[in-house]
Amino acid sequence: MSTTDYYEILGVRRDASGEEIKRAYRQLARKHHPDVSDDKLDAELRFKKINEAYEVLSDPTKRAQYDRFGVVTNGAGASDGGFGFESGSFGDIFDMFFGNVRNAAQTRRAGPQRGSDLRYDLEITLEEAFAGTTRDIEFQHLAQCDACKGSGAQPGTLVTPCAPCHGSGIVRGVRNTPLGQMVTQSACPRCSGEGHVIEHPCEACRGHGRRDTERHLSVNVPAGIDDGSRIRIAGNGEAGTRGGPPGDLYVYLSVAAHPYFKRDGLDTYADVPVSFPQAALGGPITVRSLDGKVELNLTAGTQSGTVLRLRGRGMPSVRGAHRGDHHVTIHVLVPTKLNRQQRDLLEEYAQAGGDAVEERSFFERVKDAFRPE
Ligand SMILES: [Zn+2]
Ligand SMILES: [Zn+2]
Repeated sequence: MSTTDYYEILGVRRDASGEEIKRAYRQLARKHHPDVSDDKLDAELRFKKINEAYEVLSDPTKRAQYDRFGVVTNGAGASDGGFGFESGSFGDIFDMFFGNVRNAAQTRRAGPQRGSDLRYDLEITLEEAFAGTTRDIEFQHLAQCDACKGSGAQPGTLVTPCAPCHGSGIVRGVRNTPLGQMVTQSACPRCSGEGHVIEHPCEACRGHGRRDTERHLSVNVPAGIDDGSRIRIAGNGEAGTRGGPPGDLYVYLSVAAHPYFKRDGLDTYADVPVSFPQAALGGPITVRSLDGKVELNLTAGTQSGTVLRLRGRGMPSVRGAHRGDHHVTIHVLVPTKLNRQQRDLLEEYAQAGGDAVEERSFFERVKDAFRPE
């Protein structure tokens, strides 16, 4: 949305009724609300413009002023650069009337404008974040029109300077006030502040100089990238207007939850089940880390909840060669189903250890242990 015309922004005729303006605003506000739009960065800008336009056009006084001068001077509408009033050589008087319009530079003709930034959301797996990846993405953006190279004029036709404003994009008015003459400046209504007139608009882009274009890009995602990171791809946002530079594309990355590993910064975490005999006897076990299987030697008598740290087996850092650690939490599994032989062996085991299987409780055994001989 490159236009600064409030009627165009809301998509209504200049003689639209208040009701029509309200309806158009509601529809647009719903459609472009940043909370519902996929492209948040762009939606915020659009939403702001839509609100600004509605604020002016829904108020009969402001609307009348806007219709007459092309701007509204009480703050609403003239806040965002593009165009506005300039105080000319009667700055002080002007300020007395329009005290809150300060930025004279805003009133220069609409010059080159940088294109909007765009946002693209990309979800990757933890494995991709670990190893780095290249992803092909596709998105729609306003690119410079190939046919007219962004000029907006049909190839072979002329772009002529605007006569009423002599190519400046600004028209001046002189008004007599009780305090003296006041010079006002506003965007030229004939050329909308562009300073030139396109006699034959480019057919491909209907004179806008930009076209909605599908774009394909390969995005390099570096190893170690974290959830919530963003990658800036310079110059791949929307094309600028009037020769302005293009905006940037921001790829917002989210890393999908992993079924097995958890991540906190550079460190990774996983739970590893081991059987009761394994924990009691110790010995080699194999655990998974993001770069493959690792052999570990479990010490005899390892308790459930023991955390083993595998140094340098976590995530790589995006910058530099540092690696985080991988943490393994041991969970000793108690068997839930025993066959006959297993139960016999376990009872034998319990008795051999002095555990009375039925008659004596743990507390009685503790008392025994402390009883004097
Ligand atoms: Zn074109
Ligand atoms: Zn003009």
